[in-house]
Amino acid sequence: MKDTRYALGIDVGGTKIYAGVIALETGEVVGSARKRTHPERGADFFTKRLQEVAADALESVHLPSTAQVAAIGVGLAGQVDRERGLLRGAPNLARGVEDLPLRDLLEKAFDLPVILGNDAEVATYGEQHYGAGRECDDFICIYVGTGIGSAIVHKGVLRRGATGTAGEIGHTVVQYGGRMCGCGGRGHLEAYASRSAITKVLFAELARGRTSKLQDYLKPDETAIRSKTIARCEEEKDPLMLETLSEAADYLGAGLGSLASFLNPSRIIIGGGLIEGTTFLFERASLRAREVALPVPGRALEIVRTGLGDDGGIVGAAWMAVHMRPKKDS
Ligand SMILES: [Zn+2]
Repeated sequence: MKDTRYALGIDVGGTKIYAGVIALETGEVVGSARKRTHPERGADFFTKRLQEVAADALESVHLPSTAQVAAIGVGLAGQVDRERGLLRGAPNLARGVEDLPLRDLLEKAFDLPVILGNDAEVATYGEQHYGAGRECDDFICIYVGTGIGSAIVHKGVLRRGATGTAGEIGHTVVQYGGRMCGCGGRGHLEAYASRSAITKVLFAELARGRTSKLQDYLKPDETAIRSKTIARCEEEKDPLMLETLSEAADYLGAGLGSLASFLNPSRIIIGGGLIEGTTFLFERASLRAREVALPVPGRALEIVRTGLGDDGGIVGAAWMAVHMRPKKDS
């Protein structure tokens, strides 16, 4: 293991595929590449795109002749079968993907060992080893973007649960019988505090005749609202945006406060596109979390932003590639 100095980490989300070559000792990103995902173009496009981004990232660095990239780690915004190296299903990444043998495809293409993981899981490895989770044994990472993902680290170990799905805070109930969630359930946190939820509320309000700065920034047929646009309207103190973000922050705070009472973590680390771009959401959700949590765990709780920001996924995926390899490969 001692000459394993670099690994390739790939973060695969619904908007973009981002790959980076990482120096494992420091977590430094020494080269990277990114491209849009285009989920609507299907499975073949997706695998080709993934390989292109990986190859571009590898080509972007000139490592010393003795150094080499040891392995590839991939964090995916979808269901992953870690043991068999399959992407089970991921409507947000590529329509029609079912049991795609991604590990074998990438191993063949790059002649390197490959490990697959979940996107929140790999970003949490990044924070744990190089970011805001260092020297902390009990913490939770939460990522607020298109959806809401999270991962739980207890006694220094990432908890996967009985079926490997632990940490789905986005699908915990914050309003019984409430809004429909993308998963088919009702009243889930993701249906109130994710970018998709905020987008739905904003479009519904505009359709009802409310006015907003948002109308100046949206193109005529746009159906998604980017985190950047949300941040811009927030900065300009647009009343409709502040109202919508306040509601989302209150629900997010309720979710975080419940976690604090239930799991008693020493730290909650919050990131994701929507949190990174805005200040209001983070601050108001933190305040609400302390209000709703029981006094003792609430007072002891630190709520911080991620240390690695957008790089958390690629850095953590690279870490996973060399540290979570099955015994037979090491
Ligand atoms: Zn749900």
